[in-house]
Amino acid sequence: MIARDEIRELANFHSPETCALTFYYQPSTPQDRSHRGDSILVKDMLRNAIRDAEKGGKGACAKADLERVSAIVEALRGNGGRGKAIFACAGQNFWREYDLPPQLPKTQVILNQRFHLKPLAALMRENRKTLIVLADRTKARVFKFSNNEINELQDFFNDLSRHGKSDGFAGYDGGHAERRVSNEAAQHFKTIADYVMERYERDNFDQLLIGCHDEQWAEIEPHLHPYAKQKLIGHFRIDPKAATPEQVKEMTVQFIARHDGDEKQRLISDVIGEAHRNGNGAIGLRRVLRSLETGEVQTLLLGSNFHAAGVKCYNCGHMDLGEAANCSVCGKPNTRLDDIGDGIVGHALRNHIDIVWIDTTEEFDHIGRIAALLRFRADQNTPMKVAV
Ligand SMILES: [Zn+2]
Repeated sequence: MIARDEIRELANFHSPETCALTFYYQPSTPQDRSHRGDSILVKDMLRNAIRDAEKGGKGACAKADLERVSAIVEALRGNGGRGKAIFACAGQNFWREYDLPPQLPKTQVILNQRFHLKPLAALMRENRKTLIVLADRTKARVFKFSNNEINELQDFFNDLSRHGKSDGFAGYDGGHAERRVSNEAAQHFKTIADYVMERYERDNFDQLLIGCHDEQWAEIEPHLHPYAKQKLIGHFRIDPKAATPEQVKEMTVQFIARHDGDEKQRLISDVIGEAHRNGNGAIGLRRVLRSLETGEVQTLLLGSNFHAAGVKCYNCGHMDLGEAANCSVCGKPNTRLDDIGDGIVGHALRNHIDIVWIDTTEEFDHIGRIAALLRFRADQNTPMKVAV
């Protein structure tokens, strides 16, 4: 799968000559085993694009790339049921090729000044790295979950009884065995917390999840570092010693799905509430475009099914609904976008705006399948403060 840095690199790519080639390949349900119908359609699409390029003018520089893509499609033969994305610009010696899960909206070839990244970004949305720690008083196991895969990273026992003598725990050996066990457990949880912190930062995890017996949560939680607490999405009940990686994966998948669902619902309610009381919320395409332009947007909420035609000016970056031939801000010619969502996603990626993908809900459809939580309101620039 694609790392976030890579998609940001794609988003930042610019070809003023309109030679940034985006190619998405979505395998169709095979009519026959050879996928011939499929590849004939794609080849037609590419042949048309090559013919346009040969006519000169815009996209002429993409001819070599289109031919290279065409040769690849020839060899694809359904690509083993996988999708594919290629981003290329021969003029700048740029070529990136990825195999993807077959969940793209369609096969398409686009030549523009920027790559079209919405289908790719939508696929990447669940690609967060979760650090999972299972712990009880004597054991800890650490897992990584990403790209729907679980890996056990580490497994350690509390062997403090052995180490204890050299690091100051000897004093507790005097008599109260129970107290000693409890102190050893505390030390064990602290060791885990330190390890988690180090691992979390080293491997760039996005979130933390803990699995334990119910009664142990109150013992574990106080030892977590404040930063880890911020990244903690919760804890679930499991037997840390006996759990198999498959069970850990199942619990993790369920937990994340529930957590994300709640989080998204909360975000939607927040944004709608803020928008209705004229606060830090923007709903609907027109309003969100304006907020993106004024740099107000903190989090963009985009429907998985969002699709709207529009225009973009590659001179000043202005995006608009409708079909205006020229930019309403700088007057330069607009470029038509089949889906303005591509322009919006590219803008968000370049500007480090979080994108949250929302699956179809009636409530979200009702507000136009696009909304944003704002950092501030440019039109509410607190003149009161000046007056006071
Ligand atoms: Zn403009």
